[in-house]
Amino acid sequence: MNITSEDVVEYLDGVHKYQNYYMERCVFHSPDNNPSLRVSDFGYKCLSCGVRGSLVRLYNEVSGRIVVKKNLITHHLLSGVSGRNNLAQSKP
Ligand SMILES: [Zn+2]
Repeated sequence: MNITSEDVVEYLDGVHKYQNYYMERCVFHSPDNNPSLRVSDFGYKCLSCGVRGSLVRLYNEVSGRIVVKKNLITHHLLSGVSGRNNLAQSKP
């Protein structure tokens, strides 16, 4: 299967076409408000988060599943605050 950058960018968002490559929103980090994923026939590289790889890999990634969904991150409140109010004030 011969995959070109055109096949890949069909699945991507915010595509800007340049002379011999495309820039679009990165699917590996979000939000990517400033399209920083560069895709050419030789592969892809994100200028923001640094991921890179082959065109085929990116194609599998974007055509198989959409990765732009935000991960639900649960923040655990740090409740174990160590008390500092029991410092012994020893006066001479
Ligand atoms: Zn990225």
